[in-house]
Amino acid sequence: MKQKINAYDNVLDLIGNTPLLKLSKITQNLIGNFYAKVEAFNPGHSSKDRIALHIIEEAERKGILKPGDTIIETTSGNTGFSIAMVSVIKGYDCILAVSSKSSPDKIDMLRAMGAKVYVCPAHVSADDPRSYYQVAKRMHEEMKGSVYINQYFNQLNMEAHYRTTGPEIWEQTNGQITHLIACSGTGGTISGTGRFLKEMNPNIKVIGVDAYGSVLKKYHETREFDSNEIYPYRIEGLGKNLIPGATDFEVIDEFIKVTDEESAHTARMISKTEGCFIGYTSGAAFQAAKQLAELGEFDVNSNVIMIFPDHGSRYMSKIYSDEWMRDQGFFDSVNTEATQKIEY
Ligand code: PMP
Repeated sequence: MKQKINAYDNVLDLIGNTPLLKLSKITQNLIGNFYAKVEAFNPGHSSKDRIALHIIEEAERKGILKPGDTIIETTSGNTGFSIAMVSVIKGYDCILAVSSKSSPDKIDMLRAMGAKVYVCPAHVSADDPRSYYQVAKRMHEEMKGSVYINQYFNQLNMEAHYRTTGPEIWEQTNGQITHLIACSGTGGTISGTGRFLKEMNPNIKVIGVDAYGSVLKKYHETREFDSNEIYPYRIEGLGKNLIPGATDFEVIDEFIKVTDEESAHTARMISKTEGCFIGYTSGAAFQAAKQLAELGEFDVNSNVIMIFPDHGSRYMSKIYSDEWMRDQGFFDSVNTEATQKIEY
């Protein structure tokens, strides 16, 4: 009798069910127990695989997407890669409008996955016709048989995390999670995961990570959009210059801001101490945990889960390049208090 071959049908079957990793070395001087949900284990190496698959399959279910159609999106890179990957398997064309702030390696990867990529200026407002939002919107309006994923305003974004990331964390921690820390870009990850976890246990604290130069923290505190908060920053995928409709601000207990410099050093340090090669915003998530630990947020029973959204290989020309770090001035302050804490 023929034995069954133990194989996945295609890469889409590998999406989700990512591991939870205990961080034990880098956390030695911190009170609490710290775990990372390592989303780099998805086949597209980021948490965005989850939303690409869910949004595209929902469009198929509703009959909006038909074979040969085109999928259009604005993206800092990761969502684009995931959409391109899902499109390859399902036979759709993929057009991506990306910010000029995205790593060159990320843009090359999108093209390698068969996507058509339009690079748009990063430092223009969202309603400027040159912005990647407006470029994508225009292409969608002009192109028949196209679907616009619209991750910043699509409720299915948070639903993907509500259905997968949240339940996975609840199960992996046997319900013992006390804090969730997640970077907020579209807000889909923190909103969907946080909503599920709070339904299971309303005492779980949900903490969003924001960048200096982004409006999210201020908006959460005041419910007002303050354009004075906006200025350029380097970290990709974290923070925003608009209020994303995909964020449920009610689910989030508080936002904490992290600097570009400390997040970059922290990401590099995690790779070197834990052997887990992670992206810039994973450094930001742990940097936020470290700041909260220093403020006395955790006790010995705290089980802090951080989402590590993507893989370090996407930042070879950025935080993992000493030259880039030097150019940003990130090696200048070796004797400042901030970098004294960083021993690597
Ligand atoms: N980290 C990275 C690297 C990302 O690309 C994103 C998505 N923009 C995030 C964090 C934030 O996730 P979300 O959009 O679900 O808030």
